[in-house]
Amino acid sequence: MGLRTRKKTKKRKQSKKAGKKKPVETNLCQDCIPAKCCMYYSVEIDEPENEKDYDDLLWIIAHKDAEIYVMDDRWYLLVHSPCRFYDPTKGCLIYPKRPRICRKHTQEECEFEDDYDFDLHFHNYEELERFIRNNT
Ligand code: SF4
Ligand code: SF4
Repeated sequence: MGLRTRKKTKKRKQSKKAGKKKPVETNLCQDCIPAKCCMYYSVEIDEPENEKDYDDLLWIIAHKDAEIYVMDDRWYLLVHSPCRFYDPTKGCLIYPKRPRICRKHTQEECEFEDDYDFDLHFHNYEELERFIRNNT
């Protein structure tokens, strides 16, 4: 399947203190209820190139719980929709056979602290419409 998907990841900022990486807490997931990374999905979408493409994006983001963001010149659709296999008390109900994208997601780049640094982030129709009006 050619679906390009990803979890949201924090953009790495250059640190002036090389080698002084903040240690990653080992119990982040224990305190993260409901697990933020199981509450949405995100897929890469084509970068809009013309009026029609932007109009198609408006159609997408007109839908409830849809957002669009741009990171490193790549465009993504994000949909807030909990995974049906997440259980608030038991966690992932299919953990041993969870999909590859879940396996690849690490605490180091997780969304626990909600510290995103997207280049662009459209939370709703109006924000994208304003961007199109001012930039195309
Ligand atoms: S990986 Fe991050 S977002 Fe996912 S459950 Fe653990 S702490 Fe929460
Ligand atoms: S399959 Fe499991 S780890 Fe993956 S999103 Fe669903 S509940 Fe979370």
